[in-house]
Amino acid sequence: MSAKILDGKWVRDQIFADLKPRIASLKRPPGLAVVLVGDDPASQIYVRNKVKACADLGIYSEKITPPADLTTKDLLAIINDLNQRPEIDGILVQSPLPKHIDHRAVLVSVAADKDADGFHPFNVGCLVANIPAARACTPAGIMEMLRRYEIPVAGKNAVVIGRSDIVGKPMALLLLHANATVTICHSKTAGLADEARRADILVAAIGKPELVDGNFIKPGATVIDVGMNRIPSDIAGKTRVVGDVKAEDAQRQASAYTPVPGGVGPLTIGMLMSNTVAAAERHLCST
Ligand code: NAD
Repeated sequence: MSAKILDGKWVRDQIFADLKPRIASLKRPPGLAVVLVGDDPASQIYVRNKVKACADLGIYSEKITPPADLTTKDLLAIINDLNQRPEIDGILVQSPLPKHIDHRAVLVSVAADKDADGFHPFNVGCLVANIPAARACTPAGIMEMLRRYEIPVAGKNAVVIGRSDIVGKPMALLLLHANATVTICHSKTAGLADEARRADILVAAIGKPELVDGNFIKPGATVIDVGMNRIPSDIAGKTRVVGDVKAEDAQRQASAYTPVPGGVGPLTIGMLMSNTVAAAERHLCST
């Protein structure tokens, strides 16, 4: 058996195509502010890609780049200013933040209605209660991918490895709301491979290169690899990105799987744009 490759760029392009007429019908362009504290090289690339996606779609974007040594108070003042500005619909504070910053204070300081990442506790509560609101982009993008590839979820066994607030937990809740029977595994789970092998839909969001091998994959499962792990490449001094799943094992045993790169990554940006447009629609219909 050779698994179907689930193409994240194809799904992202479909998400973008659906957003374009919605953006065109608004009285003004949606606005997204991205706050990038410091000069972490990986974060700079992520932010560049987000700003480019905005430009491609006709979304106004603003990049704010305070230095790494700013105080929590100063960062909160920047966010408060963005909260007040009517042309800004979405705010994203790029993680990781420097260690000295009070992450929780930052999380709750973004107005829930402008929370483009879906991380604010109000929006997390909406997720738990299955009330429409901004959803965490990566798991929401994975649900879009399952839907657009017509992979059935209801009644299936889904296993999510990883319980982070940004991927694992929201992923499990979204699958639950789509009527999957969901198991959440994590670093303390006993018999991890046995648990994973029960999955019709296996989501790996661990951050450990190729931890998930053939022993974890039920024949015919759908395997979603969220991991983005930078490891040394064969070329001296260079690195390459691998997922949490051994791709050749997924290729051999799964019915469908997401490659790394090109699988889950593009979905995250797709849903960030979607959250921003939805926020603009809410703001403009309430003015
Ligand atoms: P995290 O470090 O916050 O969480 C990792 C989770 O994996 C934890 O809940 C932990 O319990 C679990 N875990 C760690 N070691 C384990 C083990 N040996 N066995 C079982 N579980 C284990 O990471 P995160 O933010 O959720 O990200 C996970 C991965 O997904 C990372 O590689 C990250 O780069 C990637 N990621 C990709 C995207 C994307 O857009 N493609 C977005 C977010 C995160």
